[in-house]
Amino acid sequence: MTITDTAALGSRDTSAAALEVDPVDFYGFREFLTSAERARLHDLRTFLAAEVAPIADEFWERAESPRHLIRPLASLGIYGAGFPDVAEFENSSLFRGWVSYELARVDSSVATMAGVHSGLAMSSVAVGGSNEQRADLLPKMARGEIVGAFGLTEPLSGSDTARGIRTTARRDGDGWVLNGAKRWIGNATFADIVVIWARDVADSNVKGFLVSRGTPGFTATKIERKQSLRAVENADITLVDVRLPDSARLARVRSFREVALILRQTRSDVAWQALGNGVGAYEAAVAYARSREQFGRVIGSYQLVQSKLVTCLTEITASIALCTRTAQLQEADTLTDEQSAMAKATVSERMRRVVALCREILGGNGIQLDYGVARRFADAEAIYTYEGTHDMNTLIVGRGITGIPAFA
Ligand code: FAD
Repeated sequence: MTITDTAALGSRDTSAAALEVDPVDFYGFREFLTSAERARLHDLRTFLAAEVAPIADEFWERAESPRHLIRPLASLGIYGAGFPDVAEFENSSLFRGWVSYELARVDSSVATMAGVHSGLAMSSVAVGGSNEQRADLLPKMARGEIVGAFGLTEPLSGSDTARGIRTTARRDGDGWVLNGAKRWIGNATFADIVVIWARDVADSNVKGFLVSRGTPGFTATKIERKQSLRAVENADITLVDVRLPDSARLARVRSFREVALILRQTRSDVAWQALGNGVGAYEAAVAYARSREQFGRVIGSYQLVQSKLVTCLTEITASIALCTRTAQLQEADTLTDEQSAMAKATVSERMRRVVALCREILGGNGIQLDYGVARRFADAEAIYTYEGTHDMNTLIVGRGITGIPAFA
């Protein structure tokens, strides 16, 4: 198989044998997966081609989350990591990474919807929850019966949430009272539980709370007119005297340290997502370059166009290598904040370059939704920004190099 056998998505051979020589995986990094994991990825890819690819543009244009996909995706066993309470869904870090890649390759909004639920919300319960909370919630979340969201960012605090959280939690008798506001919270318009991070007025430490949909005083309003990841429903949340029992507090969270631990894990998932988003654009651009004719020949026969495609594949290949090593470190439980931050920043920067080149290759059709690149091009901006902007992740690595925090 030659590299130019990367054909249009519609005509791809999705047999298990063909997937094992995926031409985008130029150096065969998938071989680090077990054959059982590769077979499960094949099932996922088949599902995504049949159920997500045909509707992705439509949901993106309508700015609506295809939430009906949450349970069918759960049935493929892709949610959750190696949490002891959900042993039936025990997934390796590498497998989870490739899952994010496959989801984002087809639709980054679906990847984000699934990632917020499975990565951010489930990890919050796994890292911060009591044994009872974990045993009760994680299996239901892994099966998609309970959908989660993760409320950290606030209107006045994005990059500086570690010290900037203004939402308060006040002890009141046996329970707690929450007041404040959150912004950009994915899935919050329909989630069954939203993890709310709030500052305890008594000790000023950040604590986590599970707020169920319908709790009096909790309101989630969809953010309209978004131009990136349009099929992710992000919400502005207000919390006005929201009363919760102590059983709604994530029992093992003591401070922002637990939030940082969760983000360390999910940042590397977002690196895989950025990679997948770029690959989706690249595959569409290869197909286009092989079929679009100008000056009497297909544009893929021109050296300048080939050069752009080679640049894209090189960026993608370097990103797969970095993501693979990051997942291996994660699996060994030795991944550092700096390594996770570098992976997210670097891969999303490369993705930005890839989608821009792909958009260029498609000429005018590159800004039109029907040709497979415009959606990825727009979605790249949100991926570049969330889970720590490029600047924030750079500063995390800079602090690691010098020992000097340069955030303020
Ligand atoms: P700001 O923090 O205001 O930053 C603005 C600019 O200033 C950026 O370029 C930033 O890099 C730069 N900057 C800030 N401080 C410094 C500094 N010290 N040095 C140099 N440059 C600096 N949050 C959640 O909690 N849950 C979610 O589910 C969620 N989903 C999201 C989905 C989408 C589509 C988007 C766009 C965001 C989502 N977020 C979510 C929020 C996201 O994590 C924040 O947008 C991000 O952390 C940046 O915060 P901000 O937008 O407030 O930007």
